[in-house]
Amino acid sequence: MMVLTKKMIEIRNILQKVGQSSSLTLPSIVVIGSQSSGKSSVLEAIVGHEFLPKGLNMVTRRPIELTLVNTPDSTEEYGEFPDLGLRKVTDFSSIQRTLTELNMAVSEAECVSHDPIHLTIYSRNVPDLSLIDLPGYIQVVGQNQPLQLKQKISELCDKYIQPPNVILAISAADVDLANSAALRASRRVDPRGERTIGVITKLDLVDPARGAAILNDKQYPLRLGYVGVVSKAPQSQGLFKMGSSDLLATIAKNEKSYFSAHPHEFGPEAGVNVGTLNLRKTLMRVLEQTMSSSLQSTSDAIRQELEEATYEFKVQYNDRPLSAESYLAESLDAFKHAFKQFTEEFGRPEMHELLKSELDQKVLDLLAARYWNKPVTDLTPAQHDLDNLADLPKADPDSLYWRRQLDASTSALTKLGVGRLATTVIASSLQAHVDKLLANSSFANHPFAKKAITEAASTILNERFYSTSDQVENCIKPFKFDIEVDEREWSQGRDHVVTVLKKELQDCEAALASLEPAVGGRRKLKEVMTFVDKARKGDITVEGDGRSGAGGFSAALLAKGREAVFLRDRADIIKMRMMAVKAKQCSNPKNKYYCPEVFLDAAATKLASTAVLFLNVELLSEFYYNFPRELDLRLGRHLSPEEVEKFAKEDPKIRRHLEVIRKKELLELVLEKMDSLRQLEGRDREHGPHA
Ligand code: GDP
Repeated sequence: MMVLTKKMIEIRNILQKVGQSSSLTLPSIVVIGSQSSGKSSVLEAIVGHEFLPKGLNMVTRRPIELTLVNTPDSTEEYGEFPDLGLRKVTDFSSIQRTLTELNMAVSEAECVSHDPIHLTIYSRNVPDLSLIDLPGYIQVVGQNQPLQLKQKISELCDKYIQPPNVILAISAADVDLANSAALRASRRVDPRGERTIGVITKLDLVDPARGAAILNDKQYPLRLGYVGVVSKAPQSQGLFKMGSSDLLATIAKNEKSYFSAHPHEFGPEAGVNVGTLNLRKTLMRVLEQTMSSSLQSTSDAIRQELEEATYEFKVQYNDRPLSAESYLAESLDAFKHAFKQFTEEFGRPEMHELLKSELDQKVLDLLAARYWNKPVTDLTPAQHDLDNLADLPKADPDSLYWRRQLDASTSALTKLGVGRLATTVIASSLQAHVDKLLANSSFANHPFAKKAITEAASTILNERFYSTSDQVENCIKPFKFDIEVDEREWSQGRDHVVTVLKKELQDCEAALASLEPAVGGRRKLKEVMTFVDKARKGDITVEGDGRSGAGGFSAALLAKGREAVFLRDRADIIKMRMMAVKAKQCSNPKNKYYCPEVFLDAAATKLASTAVLFLNVELLSEFYYNFPRELDLRLGRHLSPEEVEKFAKEDPKIRRHLEVIRKKELLELVLEKMDSLRQLEGRDREHGPHA
């Protein structure tokens, strides 16, 4: 017969993981009583161990959901706190300490918490029972206790004493039953006394006749009756703290001698139910009956809940199976797939383009500094006359000066640290691409995975950085001494320079145009620019300290004017440079001293091509090979199931999906167990309970 209770308690515990509605649970025994009514003593006597928090302050601040599991084949006795991951705590004083700490963690201000502590005790000496210990009712609020404390305790207890739970109402014999807080509470929710067991403690403290009268009480009749106990171990043994597993035996012995000393009041003839052992039996019987009779309604509720979960699974999630592991694996696969695709789109040509445009900028700046560094007026032929190209600054190939100019520029280009620059450009581009892939992947909602992936990329890139830049630097070394440009390279370079300069010119003009609205129109800008020009030539003396402005213009306006003049001059110079490149002389590589723009562009192309060859081997291929492996390492097998679960639940959509599946699985499991339980029960009924 007891197998049933054990199985039902098991089901009850599974149902607790499903959570939510009270119809989805099997009954438990809820223990209520005033402070000092002897509630803890009764519970400890049943368990056979001292394990509950003790102290002057109110120590029970959270419900303790206590599951007792009878283990007939084992001599071990231990407790477990499943929520804390604390397994096999064999020392009961350590259980007591943990309970005290958990209770004390509830702040004074909060006074009581509805969050239950789950504790399971395994022993061959306990019956299969499911009990809930609640904070004791208080009569008067203590000095340091908040005023609402009484109210809060009462609310918490009310939550638990609802049907179908059994109420174990503890009252002390030395207090008038009419004043018993436990009975008063029970009457409110169970007026006909159908699911309340009365326990009268401290029978030894009142006259036996009075004790017997209480047990026969007709004023508060309870269908399940009253049980009288003396659950205090005799003081004489207190000097040596007894082996606590003897607690029940000691109490039972003590009770026996007390009750048999008063046969008239408590003997078999008296018709009263006394003793902790009897109480235990009563609890077992009542719990099993109550659970059995709840079985049908609970299983109906579960079936309904399961139908809802199944429906949600179908409609919302298309019956798509999902587990945290499969979600991670799928996400990782999809990410690796996207990465693979990227590797096919980003290779040598793309690296070359990136690197070349970086070098283009360097070349532009370099030439601007060396060749186009004089005021525009000195360089410009009359009215920027395109037909007048012969007037452009001449560069005589035989002039040592122009030779030196070009050699110095070339050397500045080859020695600017191409190895470092090229590696940085490609590495940052790879990292940026990984970030982009991440943002478009399902990892976007997962901070943990995002960090792992970004770190995987940067680790590999950092590891390769120095050797790659050294390699690249080494292999461009020959260009530091000599650069040969053939006709084809020359004409390609020339075309390219025109494109680059055109783009530069566009940017410049756009920037200039954008200043107009900022100063209040084109005319205004022209006025300021004219003023700045005159001031620069010395035609006007600018007064003021520059901050307050001059010539009737504010300082801010003047700053804009100066910026505009700079942009206009720059645009002029770029136009000049374009003219120079387009000039007839520049069609021939022999005129390289005349056309440094073209020569340096061709040189930059050579540098980029050579660098890319080595970047490809040293950085790109390595990265493409190692990155997916590094991902597997960081997000694959070595993650613990908890980490995988945590990862999956970071995404609220996935969390909900997983919860629905889990709920469905739990409910299915419970129903299965219930069905087999009912079969067992049916068999019991046919053959009668085995002894
Ligand atoms: P709780 O506050 O309701 O948990 O009460 P306790 O179990 O801590 O008991 C309060 C006090 O009453 C303690 O000092 C116990 O030793 C004592 N006590 C509990 N049960 C009995 C009993 O049956 N007889 C006697 N004489 N004292 C008891």
